[in-house]
Amino acid sequence: MRQKRFFLTESEIPNRWYNITADMQNKPQQMLSPATGKPITEDELAELFSRECSRQELNTTDRWIEIPDEVREKYTYYRSTPLVRAYGLEEALGTPAHIYFKNESVSPVGSHKLNSALAQAYYCKKEGVTNITTETGAGQWGTALAYASKVFGLESAVYQVKISYEQKPYRRSIMQVFGALVTPSPSMSTRAGKDILTKSPNYQGSLGTAISEAVELARMTPGCKYALGSVMSHVTLHQTVIGLEAEKQMEMAGEYPDIVIACFGGGSNFGGLCFPFLRHNLSGKRQTRFIAAEPAACPKLTEGRFEYDYGDEAGYTPLLPMFTLGHDFRPANIHAGGLRYHGAGVIASQLLKDGLIEATDIAQTEAFKAGCLFAEAEGIIPAPESCHAIAACIAEAIKCKEKGEQKTILFCLSGHGLIDMTAYDQFLSGNMTDFKKQ
Ligand SMILES: *Cc1c(COP(=O)(O)O)cnc(C)c1O
Repeated sequence: MRQKRFFLTESEIPNRWYNITADMQNKPQQMLSPATGKPITEDELAELFSRECSRQELNTTDRWIEIPDEVREKYTYYRSTPLVRAYGLEEALGTPAHIYFKNESVSPVGSHKLNSALAQAYYCKKEGVTNITTETGAGQWGTALAYASKVFGLESAVYQVKISYEQKPYRRSIMQVFGALVTPSPSMSTRAGKDILTKSPNYQGSLGTAISEAVELARMTPGCKYALGSVMSHVTLHQTVIGLEAEKQMEMAGEYPDIVIACFGGGSNFGGLCFPFLRHNLSGKRQTRFIAAEPAACPKLTEGRFEYDYGDEAGYTPLLPMFTLGHDFRPANIHAGGLRYHGAGVIASQLLKDGLIEATDIAQTEAFKAGCLFAEAEGIIPAPESCHAIAACIAEAIKCKEKGEQKTILFCLSGHGLIDMTAYDQFLSGNMTDFKKQ
């Protein structure tokens, strides 16, 4: 019988994360302090983030970073995640391509976000921090951080983008089950929130605004650190456990990917899956293509500019050298909340600038069409974010069919969509609209 799913044993789960910046010829440009305009220091970052994450953020020399035993032990609750050969999807498309996906939706919170949440909560606990605060878009990051905080005995406070808070009430409930204090953003509880609400009382929120609020709370509260679920290099570092596992699993399957695809919000599941494979391109051994799939409504990689910009709306975060639509860009209310972010992580930005990765933009209805086809063929309802990766994968698989090429494609199923059924309802009833960048 043909093998569909590939797993690693507990001892094969990676014990180190991969730091791609050690292997990059052109390192990302340095982040600048918003206060001084000079390159940011570890101490400045550590005012906001845990000390260890601040150190990791600026580390461009150590190729491998050890995964703490305590974190790795929690990883074994759900890792390795399966690598799956998508025979069903291949047959539905009639493509000669071999399609694989790495299924991160099997984590306890339903997405890849837990890989970094566990690491960040662990470092906070170890450093004597008592409270963590963060923002969440669709709710996946907030859910992951709420759970990870519970695991390591910390209090968590989450600012959830208002549109998601209203569209996805169950995510709020899940965070609350894990003991998090959840506030819809923009809120009147911070100066950043008040400023925005005064100007636009009906503003439905964005990740940029929610970040401003969480950062402000962290700065104002003793014993409280801030944690970010995407964009930052240390977050992507933690996510490389995805690609390192996938590399071993592809080997078990006897294949190596020609194309690796992931959806792109700030770049953590993309970098997490791609960077371990990209290291073989950087060393000249492979010529794999890497495709970031972003929403047409928020196309920072395909239409943004490469420049220094803030990570948040109010300008509290460091200035990041990245592809950005501008920190005041207000993305349309698409369902893929996790992709509604104006900028791209600095590593992926540099790699795109250097032509080492590619990007494509996907319209919302195209994403959901792909998601429904995948669900029928593979029996898993994908997260709206992941639907963008699936759409990009299908486009490549169809090209293979047209050209009669048998390529191997690997994509990241970053999460499941079981709490996003209102979005699927809207799609199925024909009431879903597409947005272009305005
Ligand atoms: C948050 C999220 C994303 C986008 O974030 P990245 O950092 O770009 O990976 C994608 N998919 C899911 C399921 C998410 O929760």
